[in-house]
Amino acid sequence: MTINGEAWHLEFVTRKELTEQGRKHGHKRRLDGLCDYDQRTIYIFRGLAGEQRKDTLMHEYLHAVFPQASEEWVTERGTEMAEYVKRGMEPPDGD
Ligand SMILES: [Zn+2]
Repeated sequence: MTINGEAWHLEFVTRKELTEQGRKHGHKRRLDGLCDYDQRTIYIFRGLAGEQRKDTLMHEYLHAVFPQASEEWVTERGTEMAEYVKRGMEPPDGD
């Protein structure tokens, strides 16, 4: 996949592989996804399906596009974008 004009890898990995990658980056808590800027790779837990998988992909994609963004910013924007996409990218009623 192309992000910011550069080739990135997208890998669907086991929980064990994701935990190992997370430790390398100093994450102690359980992860569903990880954005590795050095390897230009997004890792996604392969056990995710449906909306959880899409939400996690959106979240990690935002990390890749905006490397300086905080975790809080990415979480909030990811949720907003995922909701927008789930509505078929139509405005909510009343807007
Ligand atoms: Zn994050």
